[in-house]
Amino acid sequence: MTNRISCLLGALLLTFGALFAQQSSDLDFCATQERTEWMKKYQAGQITPVTTKSLNTQYIPLHLVIVGRDDGTGYINPVDMLGAIQLLNTSFAQYDIQFFIDGDVDFVNSSAYYDHSFSVGRQMMSENNIRDKMNVYFVDNAAGACGYYSPGPDAIAMSNGCTSANNTDFVHEVGHFFSLDHTFYGWESVGEISEINLEDRAPATVFYRGEDVAVEKVDGSNCDDAADGFCDTTPDYLMERWTCNGAGEYRDSLTDPDSLKFAVPGANFMSYSLGDCKGEFSPEQVTAMRTNLASRLRLDENGPSNPVSANGADVNLLLPVNNATVEFSDFVELVWNTTPNADYYLVQINSSTNFTGTVLDSYITSDTSIIVTENLVARRRYYWRVRPVNRYSVDSDYSEVYRFRNGEFTVSTMDETLNAALTVSPNPVRGGQELRIAGRDLGTGGSLSYQLLDPAGRVLQSREGLTVPATGFTDYISTNDMPAGIYFLRLQLDDRQVTRRVVVW
Ligand SMILES: [Zn+2]
Repeated sequence: MTNRISCLLGALLLTFGALFAQQSSDLDFCATQERTEWMKKYQAGQITPVTTKSLNTQYIPLHLVIVGRDDGTGYINPVDMLGAIQLLNTSFAQYDIQFFIDGDVDFVNSSAYYDHSFSVGRQMMSENNIRDKMNVYFVDNAAGACGYYSPGPDAIAMSNGCTSANNTDFVHEVGHFFSLDHTFYGWESVGEISEINLEDRAPATVFYRGEDVAVEKVDGSNCDDAADGFCDTTPDYLMERWTCNGAGEYRDSLTDPDSLKFAVPGANFMSYSLGDCKGEFSPEQVTAMRTNLASRLRLDENGPSNPVSANGADVNLLLPVNNATVEFSDFVELVWNTTPNADYYLVQINSSTNFTGTVLDSYITSDTSIIVTENLVARRRYYWRVRPVNRYSVDSDYSEVYRFRNGEFTVSTMDETLNAALTVSPNPVRGGQELRIAGRDLGTGGSLSYQLLDPAGRVLQSREGLTVPATGFTDYISTNDMPAGIYFLRLQLDDRQVTRRVVVW
């Protein structure tokens, strides 16, 4: 049984504030720069391509790290994070590659990592990566870009404002993770599209990262060596975000080094076309990714052949019961059932029944309860719902909506010394068994009172005015006639107060 302090800390770690100052338009698209050593060898023919696809879908384990500020605010909205993972899986399904959330979603509170430069990002990754997983960090500002892949620590950083179900930037960065370069590789350093005269013939080379990179020609004569090194990606010189026309291409044609005009298609995930244009990797890119994948990640052999999403209709909201008035204003525990096929739960709490826009708070947890300790106002009505999430198939719907009114008492006055001195056991306690309350080394003696409350804050039992010495006391509470469930034990020793959760089964 965890005590109240650790529950509170746990809840604080799960809280994200509705603070999304960063808009994707403020950021460069992608800050991935280096051609990986692996890709250099692969394109030099030193690595044998894996040309046959695996018989089974390959499952890639994701280690997700949600980064907040020092004070634990600013976490990515888990709805957006899950939406981006769903879009990733939709995008890779045609290549029989899928991604799943492996283990706990981790939370790191560091303002330095939340808004970081490349070098600080490397430090963040080396400190928090888990081996043999695809490590992904969700931050406010990933080195001034929507995202990047850093080959050294081998991890992806995504800016929160560029991460959602409608944004393919995460798919693009995963392409980099598998060692793909931009389709316009070499042009990253040229500047902006507006600085190029599209009527002019392109140069034979562009200078990038200390070397001359051949500019890809339309006739395919240099496609092995030019740009991204793939012959089935068309020439592309467009180094900043662009919108495709009705034909899915760049609105103007470009001119190659042989003066041939060509259009750039926007479908490739490794181009800088906007997300609506995108939808594929080329076959050579897919072969490179499969080959890269085989060389470096532990593949999950136990991936389900047909993952089943969790179902919101299977969620039973347990506490607070619908329409309850709860005891405390700043400490509300939300409890639901263990739901079939669910590995995580996305919990939303709001001040109205309209959950379609910004909601008061969202949480993601692998537990079946959370404690809300922030943003609640006394004597006000709140609404909450739960979305069960399967680690392999994150798409799912929400439960029904319950409501509660929170109380007027606060637990923020809890006395830590008194809390540490108290033992409430056994807990959980079997209905009918006596619950023992013991205090040792209380600091000072005084007048002890306690109340046993149900989740709605009704007092079931109480004792007042017990005189106890500083050395301690022992007392017993009957649990006869108490149905299985969660209760609260509130103790006061003079002006010091502690509240404990008690589970009867
Ligand atoms: Zn990129």
